[in-house]
Amino acid sequence: MTDGKGAETAHGFETLAIHAGQDADPSTGAVITPIFQTSTFRQPTVGELPAGYDYSRAGNPTRAALEDCLAALEGGTRGFAFASGMAATDTYLRAVCRPGDHILIPNDAYGGTFRLVDRVLRRWGLDYTPVPLSDLAAVRAAIRPETKLIWCETPTNPLLGIADIAGLASVAHEAGAQLVVDNTFASPYLQQPLNLGADAVVHSTTKYIGGHSDVVGGAVVVRDAHLADDIAFHLKSMGGVAGPFDSWLALRGLKTLAVRMDRHCANAESVVQLLVSHPAVTEVFYPGLENHAGHEIAAKQMRRFGGMVSFRVRGGQDAAVAVCDKAKVFTLAESLGGVESLIEHPGLMTHSSVAGSELEVPDDLVRLSVGIESVEDLRADLTQALG
Ligand SMILES: *Cc1c(COP(=O)(O)O)cnc(C)c1O
Repeated sequence: MTDGKGAETAHGFETLAIHAGQDADPSTGAVITPIFQTSTFRQPTVGELPAGYDYSRAGNPTRAALEDCLAALEGGTRGFAFASGMAATDTYLRAVCRPGDHILIPNDAYGGTFRLVDRVLRRWGLDYTPVPLSDLAAVRAAIRPETKLIWCETPTNPLLGIADIAGLASVAHEAGAQLVVDNTFASPYLQQPLNLGADAVVHSTTKYIGGHSDVVGGAVVVRDAHLADDIAFHLKSMGGVAGPFDSWLALRGLKTLAVRMDRHCANAESVVQLLVSHPAVTEVFYPGLENHAGHEIAAKQMRRFGGMVSFRVRGGQDAAVAVCDKAKVFTLAESLGGVESLIEHPGLMTHSSVAGSELEVPDDLVRLSVGIESVEDLRADLTQALG
């Protein structure tokens, strides 16, 4: 049903998630893409590659199925699967940028992205400026002649800020720069940045795409053929590829992405209703709230508002830590996007590496990754943890 290149667009999202790039294996008829756990491929004669594969760093059929499916779901032409979201981010930035270039990053960027840019890529010669991406005038003002790209996250982590993807694409393109969107929090089911003008989409497939907290992976999807060739070259050269089994797990996760995301969103909406009226909660961050600063833009560019929620607790850091410790159905752990609900204290956990920087987060903040358990159990658990 696809040409194996992600070119199929006539079908709906759910159909593509289950079928794109995943035609039955021609040699066996296996309905599910096999795990091609092999490093190398036999050549019938020197240099002849019947299926196009020679060595699994350069390409592997299980990984290719995932890459084609991701490309179809994001509305791109080519996808690339990496060993982690950070491998995808690093490979993308070093494929597109050169020492001496400058990039803009969100002033509330994912902690690992900030650490990569600040402590690894700066040493390599890449300069950066953190900016509030929700303020297009501030973004425009921060652009320099050597600005190569704007790195965007929306919704952001952990404060659920919203950036206007179409607006940022215009600002970037006016300046001759690219717009890259880390679409991890929304997933392609809720938001498709390439259709809004972005040049590339990056994912941590560890999160909603994998969806079961059992695999670490990353992805890049683009439309432009030259950019795709550059990414392919750098992926092969730098070697941060997704292995066959990890690719298979991410591909299996993709099949149920749409139904999972709908339940994540519905459960998050219910949890938000509980939090906004709870006396121990001073502020709730969720783009679905009408008083959220980015609500209108989120409503325009997202199908629904996602499964991530954060809130501030009356009583400061100790009170926020106590809520995390008391939760039982919500597991105290880093990461997000799995079927199980997670709770964490960003200041002491996921965002400890940005302490003291412009990206520091409030110490009374709690972040939830709302899972797909019975919503009554999630509400009861938060009620007892806040009590
Ligand atoms: C987790 C995450 C990453 C990094 O991905 P890994 O798979 O952990 O390397 C990047 N961006 C966002 C928004 C994330 O949540």
